[in-house]
Amino acid sequence: MFTPRTVVLFAACTQALFAQVTPEQFAAIRHEGLERSRVMAHLDHLVNRIGPRLTSSDNLTVAAEWARDTFQGFGIADAHLEQWGEFAVGFNRGPWWGRMTQPEAMELVCNTDAWTAGTRMPSRGPLLPAPKDADELAAAKGRLNGVWLLNPPARMVKELGAALEAEGGFGFVTGRPARAGGRGGSDLLLTGGNPRVDFDRLPNLPMVRLRSDCYEVLQKHLDDGRQVEVEFDVRNHFRKGPIPLYNVIADIPGTEHPEQFVVVGGHLDSWDGATGTTDNGTGAATTLEAARILMAIGARPKRTIRFMLWSGEEQGLLGSRAWVQKHKEELVNYSACLVHDGGTNYLSGIAGMAAMHPQLETVFAPILTSSTEMPFQIRDIEAFTPIGSDHESFTAAGVPGFFWNQAGRANYTHTHHTQYDTYDAAIPEYQRHSSVVIATGALGLANLPELLTRENMKVQRGFGGARRGGGRMLGVVLDDDGVTITEVTDGSVAAKAGLKAGDRLVRIGDKGIQELRDLRTALDDGPPQNTVTFVRDGTQQTADITFEK
Ligand SMILES: [Zn+2]
Repeated sequence: MFTPRTVVLFAACTQALFAQVTPEQFAAIRHEGLERSRVMAHLDHLVNRIGPRLTSSDNLTVAAEWARDTFQGFGIADAHLEQWGEFAVGFNRGPWWGRMTQPEAMELVCNTDAWTAGTRMPSRGPLLPAPKDADELAAAKGRLNGVWLLNPPARMVKELGAALEAEGGFGFVTGRPARAGGRGGSDLLLTGGNPRVDFDRLPNLPMVRLRSDCYEVLQKHLDDGRQVEVEFDVRNHFRKGPIPLYNVIADIPGTEHPEQFVVVGGHLDSWDGATGTTDNGTGAATTLEAARILMAIGARPKRTIRFMLWSGEEQGLLGSRAWVQKHKEELVNYSACLVHDGGTNYLSGIAGMAAMHPQLETVFAPILTSSTEMPFQIRDIEAFTPIGSDHESFTAAGVPGFFWNQAGRANYTHTHHTQYDTYDAAIPEYQRHSSVVIATGALGLANLPELLTRENMKVQRGFGGARRGGGRMLGVVLDDDGVTITEVTDGSVAAKAGLKAGDRLVRIGDKGIQELRDLRTALDDGPPQNTVTFVRDGTQQTADITFEK
């Protein structure tokens, strides 16, 4: 496209003229957010004083009340909890540990999923390979008292569990070799869990998951014919519900259009294998800090800035989806929703429809030139594509929902849902910078002359859904094994990468794909531009995939 020089100069001038946040306001935001920051104090309280915040845990309720009180402490009069639902059973985690006692002493790094059973006491006993079929089970009967069974086949877990319970067996131990791949290599322990449990029929037997290197040592001893003895003590506690679940909402009322809103937020809940620092203590802390900054500088936005901290995100965007469902009629008055949920890397940009670009440019004008170390870019996309966070609940309902682009030295894959998601993973200067970006973006959007345009807004399918399959994100149908493609959707990411039916997926980026769940996390965690490694006709090949278009 031809762009005369004069037009560029003119555009640069108008941009400054029409910036929605004045230079004085921006200077005040930076001073408050960089020199007087409280963002790491918010994070410290959230993840260390309170701790992990599993949806339905006592901690999450404490965190929601604390966040509400903290918003109020900034001078926000209208900060409250709004119930979005309930879980039938609550789950709280106590300490857990494991060790091998025979043939050698060794610590076993392990975890269990949420809403699964713990032990009743430190439980020490022989570790036996789990029977693999009915004959092996028949042979094992009568010898299951006080034992742990290693790697039960999925199809036999129920049967084996019944046999263990009948004889007083301790439970199951699972693990897989590092060479099996999976996310990030051998040292990650992922935590998940399914909240659909019945309090009157709680799970009885623990399913202890081992870190790969620990598993390999045990497996080697068993392969070499040695007697192996292990001990685990796992404190998993259930609470009879219904457990009410809340979103936290705090409003800085608009001076001209109090009935119109800009939403800024992140999810407050976390998995509970660590302290939920980068998923998503970091985003909850910047949400609180952006509110503090704007109150501290006496910002008087034209529209209402609504800070929201959702819960149930990890179980499928439950809190935000329920809230959007309940408030559907009001959403025509919502300009945009900004979600920070990508870990501790600094906010490096925002991606919207081309029609939004001029407005976004006036909103982010001060940020575009404020830091050379942490640059910021407005990118145009052809459609909003699913990533897997609460903004999608809004986008699915027609409100432009944004998930910040992030960049920096933090490795989100290392901490996302793993045992390493602890306070030390957060990077203070990034947290401070991101808080400034969010405060500026929120104020700028709230001050726009018009709501953010929805002209030609395109939303890719698969939005706002719980537990999207990785296959859908890629645009393929997968075999029962979850890694072999049986069908490629026309025009999909997979089609553009040249993938075909029959291709077996091996890796996305450097993340191995063993099962459907791996594909989903690899795509969730991966950058928008990535590579896919697959096997076709016995030959391994690699292709580029991009989630931009
Ligand atoms: Zn998250």
